[in-house]
Amino acid sequence: MKRVFEPQAPVVAVTSRGEGFPVRRVFCIGRNYAAHAREMGHDPDREPPFFFTKWGETVVQGGEIAMPPETADYQFEAELVVAIGKGGRNIDPADAETHIYGYACGLDMTRRDLQAEAKKKGRPWDIAKNVEQSAPIGLIHPAADAPDMTLGGITLTQNGMLKQSGDLWDMIWPVVDVIAYISRFYALEAGDLIFTGTPEGVGPVQPGDALSVMIAGLSDLDVVIGKPAQ
Ligand code: MN
Repeated sequence: MKRVFEPQAPVVAVTSRGEGFPVRRVFCIGRNYAAHAREMGHDPDREPPFFFTKWGETVVQGGEIAMPPETADYQFEAELVVAIGKGGRNIDPADAETHIYGYACGLDMTRRDLQAEAKKKGRPWDIAKNVEQSAPIGLIHPAADAPDMTLGGITLTQNGMLKQSGDLWDMIWPVVDVIAYISRFYALEAGDLIFTGTPEGVGPVQPGDALSVMIAGLSDLDVVIGKPAQ
């Protein structure tokens, strides 16, 4: 059948083995580190997990990302990204690791001003979170090549200054529980990425800023904030 137009090619991320990882969807868990939940004004002990989504096309492999329009407070959130290699519904936490292809450093870039307004008005977060080029990731390391990812440092520097410093061990909902939870609502598929939440210390960026996300055992993610999106 003749197509009305040619579709945009899906994003293919790169693994540390130099292979392509076709990206499908992006799920993001919110408030998964107690200290960050507190800095956003929430009591972490009483909050069940929750998540939101981004289009797969928001994923970019590091490099320069544009400042999006309609925000005066675009913020970084350094996160461990889990790449799903095998799909499933109602995944048992005990089996969840078998669904993981690998791990990467990631940034869940956020229009914080629009998120605050959405929270206040009880509106969806889409325009705050599901933003073009808002999900940069580093190389995806196959789980077989990565160390134990239930613990280890996660840090972010902005222009060489340390801004975020946490430990994966401090996740309120560990990766296996996050996978189990999301799979209750959606059939996870190979190619899905899960952003697992950010430690405290989030903050705003300006054009020209250099961000680096570092997680023990993974390749660093280096991003430069470019000019406003055209
Ligand atoms: Mn986040």
